[in-house]
Amino acid sequence: MELLSLKKNAIKDSKWFMEQAYKEALKAYRTNEVPIGAVIVKNGEIIARGHNEKELKQDATLHAEITAIRKACKKLNSWRLNDCDMYVTLEPCPMCAGALISQDKDFIYRRA
Ligand SMILES: [Zn+2]
Repeated sequence: MELLSLKKNAIKDSKWFMEQAYKEALKAYRTNEVPIGAVIVKNGEIIARGHNEKELKQDATLHAEITAIRKACKKLNSWRLNDCDMYVTLEPCPMCAGALISQDKDFIYRRA
């Protein structure tokens, strides 16, 4: 049991988090959205996930990054996502880039 939990923690590296972002992109793909996914990580744990939901919710702002940022802010009860890393499957569009730039320097953005 202990060995299993050690192994589980050991695989939570950058590659694993990017794979989780990719899984989010697949969720978007399966619902005929543009396949982009994002996860936000704090202290080695995923605190928010997001994928494109523009078509589903008919909202032009529901890009993967924005959805993940909104969920993370709600979870942390703060707009500042200090010490968080975001993993995204694609480079951000201008809207999402603006949202990412508005974060403090302790917010790190990583793309596939
Ligand atoms: Zn975007």
